Amino acid sequence: MSAPGSAITLSIVIPMFNEEAVLPLLVERLRPLADGLRTAYEVVAVDDGSSDATPVLLQRLRRDWPELRVVRLRANSGHQAAISAGLQRARGDFVVTIDADLQDPPEVIAEMLRVAREQGVDVVYGVREDRSTDTAFKRHSAGLFYRAIRRLADIDAPVDAGDYRLMSRATVDAINSLPEHNRVLRFVVPALGFPSASVGYTREVRAAGTSKYPLAKMLRLSVDSVTGFSLTPLRFATWLGLLGGLAALGVLAYAVIARILGHALPGWTSTVVIVAAVGAVQLLALGILGEYVGRMYGAMQARPTYFVAHDSLEGAHPAQPVHPAHPGHGSAENPARRP
Ligand code: UDP
Ligand code: MG
Repeated sequence: MSAPGSAITLSIVIPMFNEEAVLPLLVERLRPLADGLRTAYEVVAVDDGSSDATPVLLQRLRRDWPELRVVRLRANSGHQAAISAGLQRARGDFVVTIDADLQDPPEVIAEMLRVAREQGVDVVYGVREDRSTDTAFKRHSAGLFYRAIRRLADIDAPVDAGDYRLMSRATVDAINSLPEHNRVLRFVVPALGFPSASVGYTREVRAAGTSKYPLAKMLRLSVDSVTGFSLTPLRFATWLGLLGGLAALGVLAYAVIARILGHALPGWTSTVVIVAAVGAVQLLALGILGEYVGRMYGAMQARPTYFVAHDSLEGAHPAQPVHPAHPGHGSAENPARRP
């Protein structure tokens, strides 16, 4: 079922941040494929506040590619927020999210669509079968990341599935209705537990330009993934506290006995070690707590994670501020629902 007033079968959502180098290559490869699907489609290019020629190139491309739709965010809001903006506005019965840098081969979209239709599933994950083109560091950190999340959060996320996936309208509506801030979609989607399938693909090298994911952003994504899905770190803090308590009891017993036996004075080293250890454990526990409190703080402020500056579908009208993460506003922002 598509949104009223549109008969778009497939939306292809592409977040892009300063992708001027890769954009021509992407279009060259994506357009013939999309046209060849013989189905009504739209490409939703979410320009995540690019400061290079990306917006100019997009406007130029739109002139002779009517299926191209440009959603421009007012400021750089990050990969996940850009995808969320695209999902909020996509009109298709099916929505594919794909990176702009051609690391995810667009040829797989046809396969995803076929699998979704034949097997009647809501989600088709693109699973990286071969990541040999990624750096060793990225591969290992990613492997660790996926295993840790599966363990900690107990969600059945396919290993090595990134943000290349196809989702049904029902799935996209479900995601759009979630009030969560800083959501990490690659875990939010499996956590919904909708019927799913996956197709394998080979991760390619970035076709042009440089990665927009520095280490700091990767770390942020990891912390958001864990705190968004799991209370295990908090329990870990509790256990650490208990352990510390037990150790303290032992030391106490030792101190008392030493006192009774009359050799209590030489104790400077152990005192320093104990004070330092207890201090470290307390700070760690506070830090863990802080991550969750920070998440709650963000959720209570309910500030939007992005603002839409312009949507080419709406012509010259300035778009409303988008508020995907607030319960009261979440589903109000869907241009397809407007006349
Ligand atoms: N991206 C974005 N906003 C950002 C950072 C990245 O929209 O703040 C887009 C980027 O243009 C690309 C996708 O997210 O289409 C993945 O980024 P990138 O390829 O740089 O990440 P990597 O593959 O190196 O992890
Ligand atoms: Mg990439």
